[in-house]
Amino acid sequence: MASLELSEKIQGIAPSATLALNAKAKDMKAKGIDVLNFAVGEPDFNTPENIKDAGKKAIDDNFTRYTPATGIPELRKAIAAKFQKENGVTYSDSEIVVGSGGKPLLYGALVALCNPGDEVVLPAPYWVSYIEMIKLADGVPVIANAREEDEFEIKASTIEAKITPKTKVIILNSPSNPTGAVIPEEELRKIADLAVKHNFYIISDEMYEKLLYDGKHFSVASISEDVRNRTVTVNGVSKTYAMTGWRIGYLGAPKPVADAIGNFLSHINGNANSIAQKAALEAITGPQDEVARMKEEFRKRLSRFVEGLNEVKGIKCLKPKGAFYVYPNFSGLFKGDITDSAKMANHLLEKAHIAAVPGAEFGTNEHIRFSYATSMETIDECIKRLKELFG
Ligand code: PLP
Repeated sequence: MASLELSEKIQGIAPSATLALNAKAKDMKAKGIDVLNFAVGEPDFNTPENIKDAGKKAIDDNFTRYTPATGIPELRKAIAAKFQKENGVTYSDSEIVVGSGGKPLLYGALVALCNPGDEVVLPAPYWVSYIEMIKLADGVPVIANAREEDEFEIKASTIEAKITPKTKVIILNSPSNPTGAVIPEEELRKIADLAVKHNFYIISDEMYEKLLYDGKHFSVASISEDVRNRTVTVNGVSKTYAMTGWRIGYLGAPKPVADAIGNFLSHINGNANSIAQKAALEAITGPQDEVARMKEEFRKRLSRFVEGLNEVKGIKCLKPKGAFYVYPNFSGLFKGDITDSAKMANHLLEKAHIAAVPGAEFGTNEHIRFSYATSMETIDECIKRLKELFG
């Protein structure tokens, strides 16, 4: 009998090392070991009460049926108003798509834009899912490395060197997961000029927009009509409002692109959860003081963590401008068997019971990503253990 095989496409997708690491950390925890977990990319805060109440009300009101695939009209309207007011980008309601988190929207955008073999320029360090999404959408990832000396801010000149006649899309993610780097407005303008000159799309993932500790967020689509018309701006409520489990993301895109993504999602996913859409409406239109409170807490943790990491001999850590990750360089501590980020992450887990994600997942091999969406005590304990391990 001929052997039954999985598709080549799915076999080409790397299993998530983050999940494997998480599983190992959980296993150790179950055995009673005090593991400090810095691997997870989600706020440790609870969803604010007013948002939870809106979800409860939606259930009580029996708002539990299918909605339009691209989202309920009042939410799309509120999102269009948000883009206008906060980002200076004009989208009509019909250019907004609501989905079950940013993930399916990013994938939908890539499916909508890529023909087989089209190149997608991806600045590294990159969020791990982009690369697999590009491959699933039959695109070809072309990595453009941001340099640590430039605080991991990608330069237009680095991107320009990667452009070919096959370049179809560039993915920008500012503030960045994993580095927390923020691309300055001046550089974004140069990158946008390249997109216009060489005629390619921009997918701008602005998921961490509200977690910015220095300066004001700048949306690339606000540059000009021409740039707006080739940009998909992706955002969501997961990180900003501590709503990771509710699964609501949204995007703004020129009408033909928004329609194509909506069409794709209507077959694959249908609408995003109706109750969560009502909660997201409250998140976006209701009081914003909880967002500010969470940000101030993150800011304090960031300062403490970076300071502490730099006190450990052999670790070098930049101070990120946004998101809730630090991305220290551990190469000063590579020796013996520990020659790369994966081995270092394993060493940290086994010897100091610290779970964090190796840089190899994000396209660099000397770094470890720590999420500081965790308590100050956990951060202090982590620094203490690192000093003991490497002191
Ligand atoms: N984009 C970035 C850069 C992220 O870090 C994440 C989540 O980790 C997402 C998108 C997707 O978030 P969600 O699907 O929860 O909206």
